[in-house]
Order: sequence, then structure tokens, then C-alpha cells
Amino acid sequence: MTEETEILIAGAGIAGLTAALALAQRGCSVTVVDAFEEPSEVGAGLQVAPNASRILRTLGVLDALVSKAIAPEAIRLGDGQTGDMLLEMPITPAWLERMDAPYLTAHRAALHSVLYTAAVANPAITLKTGHAVADVREDGEHVTTVLKTADGEAVIVSRLLIGADGIWSRVRESVPGAAQPQATGRIAWRAIGPASGNGPNVTAWMIPNGHIVTYPVRNADTLNVVAITQGRSEKGDWAQTADADMLVRLLGTTHPIRGFEGMDKAHWTTWPLNAVAPEAPWNSGRILLIGDAAHGMEPFAAQGAAMAIEDGFAAGICLANAVDNPTPAFARYDGLRRGRVRKVAKRTEFNRWVYHQSGPGRTVRNFLFSKRSPQSFLSDLDWLYGYRIPE
Ligand SMILES: Cc1cc2nc3c(=O)[nH]c(=O)nc-3n(C[C@H](O)[C@H](O)[C@H](O)COP(=O)(O)OP(=O)(O)OC[C@H]3O[C@@H](n4cnc5c(N)ncnc54)[C@H](O)[C@@H]3O)c2cc1C
Repeated sequence: MTEETEILIAGAGIAGLTAALALAQRGCSVTVVDAFEEPSEVGAGLQVAPNASRILRTLGVLDALVSKAIAPEAIRLGDGQTGDMLLEMPITPAWLERMDAPYLTAHRAALHSVLYTAAVANPAITLKTGHAVADVREDGEHVTTVLKTADGEAVIVSRLLIGADGIWSRVRESVPGAAQPQATGRIAWRAIGPASGNGPNVTAWMIPNGHIVTYPVRNADTLNVVAITQGRSEKGDWAQTADADMLVRLLGTTHPIRGFEGMDKAHWTTWPLNAVAPEAPWNSGRILLIGDAAHGMEPFAAQGAAMAIEDGFAAGICLANAVDNPTPAFARYDGLRRGRVRKVAKRTEFNRWVYHQSGPGRTVRNFLFSKRSPQSFLSDLDWLYGYRIPE
């Protein structure tokens, strides 16, 4: 069966749903397809900084997320080997007022469900689950997308296709010259369990060649723990079951996961970290890549979901009237997003370099951190958290 739609979005993840809501807000009708049959609880925590929560408010979904999220009171950086806290940046009412948006931590499923619920309720958005992109063909006027379904195959012909199908994007194969994901040689270990002593904070414990981040997700007593270590594995999904004993061996004899009571009993999952360099083309003809499909990042600046939200919103701004002539709209999108994404990717890399220091580098880092004023540290990130997409 062949259907027609003006704008097709492949991927009902964070970027795809944001793009759908932003386009609908501008009067467009869109179809969104995803391989999953039902949204799932797979995954763990993520951070929604003010640059993203501000957009969620514009889309009318922020209140729903706030009711399912935590507003941390501080961001803390500590030395995981000694347990010394080096820097504590309070998230003050004055800072939040300046940002004009909250800083939140939540389960990924909570963020996904508020976007998904809003999309389902929106008459301008048609959602088709159980539709996995299998092939994409483009001529000058249309894009033909072949989808695998439980019944066999479906075909959707659209004027534009937005590829928001994540780090292992299938749509990306139809964009000549697009960058491919590269394994970074690091693995993220994740678990959620009972907490004690962490408080409502985002805490990063830095260790040589790795770091551990803890923050509450559902309530102050439910802690999300992410440990980054060296390691490789093949292309993975979001939840490969992992062995906590192996993590303890990798982390060494010191036990930097402080405050996490459930370490031994928690269900640990791992996934290998991959990155897509933000230099290659993001579009061709009538296809645009957004989110992880365009520029997947490691999580060291906690901006993966935020970049997906910024991308989706920017796609809404640029593509709302682009069906007849997408080339200038894609150029505008590139102009809005390329420099910003590069800068955030650089910051991600810088954070890794700082957090993972060992030997004399670690000593110098700890000294410099102990001398910094927390206020100046947060103010230096105004470009990141205070960013607004120009409309
Ligand atoms: C199930 C899941 C759990 C995750 N858990 C976490 C987490 O706990 N913490 C974290 O920081 N990040 C997590 N992520 C990744 C995080 O959501 C992204 O890195 C970030 O938000 C960028 O969003 P995105 O929309 O570009 O990609 P994603 O949010 O990954 O969305 C991509 C969407 O595309 C769909 N898709 C993939 N291939 C096809 C295809 N061939 N046809 C149709 N649809 C397709 C996927 O089902 C998914 O819904 C998770 C991603 C997924 C899919």
C-alpha cells in the first residue's frame, strides 16, 4: 500500500517528536514512523538543561515533564579516588531566573512519554509505530520510503523526509557523504537504584580514564548511575545486561560510586559509546538528518537529548514552508545548527579530557578546580545553557 504525506519523519525518538510538535505548531501536517511497536521503559536517566527545557515550554510539554522529573540543587565535581569534592555549583534561584527555564534530570522514558503523549493528542501528527525504515529513494520532487511492518511492507511517498532515526540511522545511508558512527573505545554502564547521601544533586566523580555521574531521576531516593570506562564492543542496543563485579574490577579498589546502596543488586546495562562527527553533510535533495543520526555525541556534556530537542525545534522553524523548495531551508538549518553543534561537541571532548586525567594532570586539575569560584564556572556556560534558537 502506498500513502502520501508532505513531511515524513523517520524516528519517534526525542528529535523526531520535537520536530513533529514544532512543525505542527507552525500549521504543518506530518507523519512520524518508528520501528518500535510501543514506547518502552528501556534506558536510564538523562539531563534536560535550560537550553532544552525552554524549548519544551514553547511546545507546551514542560509542565508534564516537570511533574515526572527532579530539579537538582547543585552540580558537583569530585575526585573519585579520594572522595574529595572539588567544586560545588549551586543551581540558585537567581541563576534559574536568568536562564528563564529549569534544569531537570529525568528517566529517558519520562521525557519520551511527554513528547509522545503530546504528539498522539495532536491532530496534525499521524504516528505509525511498527514501521521500520528499510529503504529510501529520492527523485527531484519526492522521497519514497519503504517500511517493514508486521504485515510485510508499506510505502510512504513524501515531499520531505526528516531522518531522526538515531545513531544507527537507516536514512543516513541515503545522504551521500554523511559521517558514519565511530566507536570511541569507551563504554557507558548504567543502573538505577536506591540512593543514600547523594541528595538532589548531579555529581561527577572523576577517575583516571573514566568518570561516574550520579543524579536522582524519579524521586530524591532513586539514583541514576552512569560509569564511563574504557572498553569496546560491537554495535549495541540500549540495554545489554552487564556484570556489576566486572565494573568494580574496572573501577579498581577504591569505590567511587558513593551513595549508591544498590550497586551489587542493581540491574546494570552497558552500551558502547559511538560518535558521529558533526562535519559531514546533513542533507541531500529532500532529506535532512537531525539528532543522533546527524551528530551523535558522547554524554560528557550531558547534551545528547538537548541537542536533539534544539535540532527538532530548528527543523520546525526552517522546514515549515519548505516543501516546494527545500534547498534554502536546509541551508538556513545548517547555518543555525552547524556552529552550535560543533561547539557543543568540542565542549564534550574537553570535558572528557578534563574528567579522565591521571598522574600530574589530575593533580593540576584538582588544584585549578579547588581555586575556581562556582559562580564563574556556571557563568562560563551561559553560551550553552542560555542559548536560544533565533526564529
Ligand atoms: C530506547 C532508547 C533508550 C535510550 N536511553 C537513553 C538513556 O537512558 N540515556 C541517554 O542519555 N540516552 C538514551 N538514549 C539515546 C538518546 O535518546 C539520544 O542519544 C538523544 O536523545 C538523541 O535523540 P534522537 O531522537 O536523535 O535519537 P533516539 O532518541 O535514539 O531516537 C531514534 C528513534 O529512531 C527509531 N528508529 C531507529 N531505527 C529506525 C528505523 N530503521 N525505522 C524507524 N525508526 C527507527 C528508534 O526506535 C528511536 O525511537 C536512548 C535511545 C533509545 C532509542
